[in-house]
Amino acid sequence: MKIEELSIPDSVKQVLHTSGLTELYPPQEEAVLAGALDGKNLVLASPTASGKTLVAELCALKHVVEGDGKVLYLSPLRALASEKWEEFKKYTNIKKKNGRRVSVGISTGDYDSSDPWMGKYDIIVTTNEKADSLLRHRAKWVNDVSLVVADEVHLLNEPERGPTLEVVLARLMQVNPDIQLLVLSATIKNVEEIAEWLKAIPVTTEWRPVTLREGVFHHDEILFKDGGAQKVEKSSKNPAVNLALYTVKSGGQALAFAGTRRNTISLAKKVAAKINHVLSKPMKRSLKQLSEQVLATGARTRISEQLAEVVAKGAAFHHAGLGGSHRKLIEKAFREGKIKILTATPTLAFGVNLPARVVIVNEYRRYESGYGYYPIPVLEYKQMAGRAGRPSYDKVGDSILIAKTEDERDYLMESYILADTERIWSKLAVERILRSHVLATIASDFAHTEQGIYEFFGKTFYAYQYDPRAIKGVIAKSLGFLFTEKMVEVGGDKIHATKFGRRVSELYIDPLTGVVIRDALSSRAQRLTDISFLHMIARTPDMFPKLRPYSKEMDSLQFFVEDHQDEFMFDLPTVYQDRLAFEEFLGEAKMSWVLKAWMDETSEDEMIERFRVQPGDLYRLISTSKWLLHASHELASLFKHKDLLPHLARLTVRIEKGVKPELLPLVKLEGVGRARARVLYRSGLKSVDDVKRAPLRKLTGLPLIGPRIARKIKEQVGGYVKADDWQNLQKKTKKKKTAQQRALTDY
Ligand code: ADP
Repeated sequence: MKIEELSIPDSVKQVLHTSGLTELYPPQEEAVLAGALDGKNLVLASPTASGKTLVAELCALKHVVEGDGKVLYLSPLRALASEKWEEFKKYTNIKKKNGRRVSVGISTGDYDSSDPWMGKYDIIVTTNEKADSLLRHRAKWVNDVSLVVADEVHLLNEPERGPTLEVVLARLMQVNPDIQLLVLSATIKNVEEIAEWLKAIPVTTEWRPVTLREGVFHHDEILFKDGGAQKVEKSSKNPAVNLALYTVKSGGQALAFAGTRRNTISLAKKVAAKINHVLSKPMKRSLKQLSEQVLATGARTRISEQLAEVVAKGAAFHHAGLGGSHRKLIEKAFREGKIKILTATPTLAFGVNLPARVVIVNEYRRYESGYGYYPIPVLEYKQMAGRAGRPSYDKVGDSILIAKTEDERDYLMESYILADTERIWSKLAVERILRSHVLATIASDFAHTEQGIYEFFGKTFYAYQYDPRAIKGVIAKSLGFLFTEKMVEVGGDKIHATKFGRRVSELYIDPLTGVVIRDALSSRAQRLTDISFLHMIARTPDMFPKLRPYSKEMDSLQFFVEDHQDEFMFDLPTVYQDRLAFEEFLGEAKMSWVLKAWMDETSEDEMIERFRVQPGDLYRLISTSKWLLHASHELASLFKHKDLLPHLARLTVRIEKGVKPELLPLVKLEGVGRARARVLYRSGLKSVDDVKRAPLRKLTGLPLIGPRIARKIKEQVGGYVKADDWQNLQKKTKKKKTAQQRALTDY
């Protein structure tokens, strides 16, 4: 089917033609034939890169340009949300019926806001969690949404994030029963069931733009699903290394999945040592530059050094411990073909769109503490395999599992390559998860009777998959908890949220987190310090994942706890009474110690050395802490603990910036993070006024502050800079910054 023939505005066709698209891919055609452009609800399940996004784009533009509608695009991850936002931007020159141009907005952060400004956009991209919080805040513009696109809906299966998506979809259908739903998913077994739940038409295809060849590698041979075989030279004992070398020699790139962060690094090192020799001289030069860039990006740590080392030899690793700037750099270099082999943890298969000609699944088992090793689900394997083959570059993409024995080879062929993906199951009916959604239902006035609450949850996927009665017990338990903790109150047959309940729901925290904070703030510690509050937030269930103490640090942690005993807001359990509770307490104490060290300006490298907290973990820890400190501040205000507010407000900024109190005025300036603020402070520039009075030359004479930053700072503080002074300075300071300076990039 030609794009020309579609019933979409001509202006949209033009944009597509300019991007080189003329014909629909088969899954797109099926979706159109099933009624995607006629307002029908649709579940489109087809492999990665089969063009699902274009279907969403066509529907969205039809709604906005022809129908005066509004579109909400739900994405499971922030990174994916911004990818989609970028893609939609190509349509912003198109005019709508009213003469205005199509506008596209994105909102993924700050859960404590209804973002009224989002209402002016036609297409709004958010994460599932942000959409949930917007619904809780009763953002008015949500009523105008006429199309909802939900991406990666197979994630309904995930215990942590699935329930939110399910509740958001049920809620949007409740708010506007006429809404059109376009639900996108990987191929899963029970697409029809999801479609029935959403009163949608299921469209399933296995079509891929690049043929996928799946096989198992054993000894020195890959055995493919179709019976074909391929010999691979055995130059190392490690089969993944042999496959990697084979790929590079044939001019390709590979993505190699390993089970743990540590394994991604060790595999990248082994691979790097081998492939280095087959790279061309110009490629080696380009890699050397890239390796220097790795060192100059973000903070320099032992991890970035390891990364730089393998990058120089054509390999790299990618896992959640890497800082965001490093991850982006590596992704870009892989897309550009510079990095030949990228080792990664399976999270990459779900998040980033990073195809390669060859996918190597080095470990099909995953370790989880408390469970030991278990084989990964077929769906996860298929997601990894789906990354094989780059559209418009490769004719065929290979996905290869590695077996140690012949038996294992047969097992992998049967249990992964020839197997169907699993059914996905709703994970909603768990009290920890449900109580928050029950509270939101009442607090945001979606229901005020027990019957009304049951009716709403009766529309969820859980109720559809199991039985509406199955969820009643968990709802009743949640209601009991909310009533006991005074988040809801009952009058006659009506249930209303108290101020506390309403605020907890808006703050987007688990009701139990609200209780922990409320109780801590009113019981107080003997001595209130930073540690008191940091330990308080560490104790809430929203502080996730928890840090676990390592056996080696147990002693020092116990000393830490003894030293700070009068600062904790909770009683310390004794090891004899309850060993588990004691260890949990130590874990929370560790978290407060880590956060305190960060605020006291400990370097990122030292954070790894002392606490084994890697940059990526640190980033997540900081953003969760910031959110929980904000929530604590708001609850302190609600419960009239006025005396605590300044301390909590200060802590929120200190956590965000990672600074001691004296740097707070300086880090308010744009372009000034913890490292630059410390440099300014050490040179005697301790306040905004000091900076204002200082001559420009003084600023540029400092480490880490080049002419651009100096001017930016001066512009903010209102200092005057003479034009010729500025020009002279720019010439003088053009000489390259030293490698060391660049390595110390700021936050
Ligand atoms: P999915 O959402 O299914 O993972 P995408 O929508 O990201 O897949 O599509 C993958 C790539 O295919 C994109 O680069 C897109 O531009 C391209 N593409 C999509 N539809 C077409 C088409 N009809 N013709 C040519 N290229 C297409």
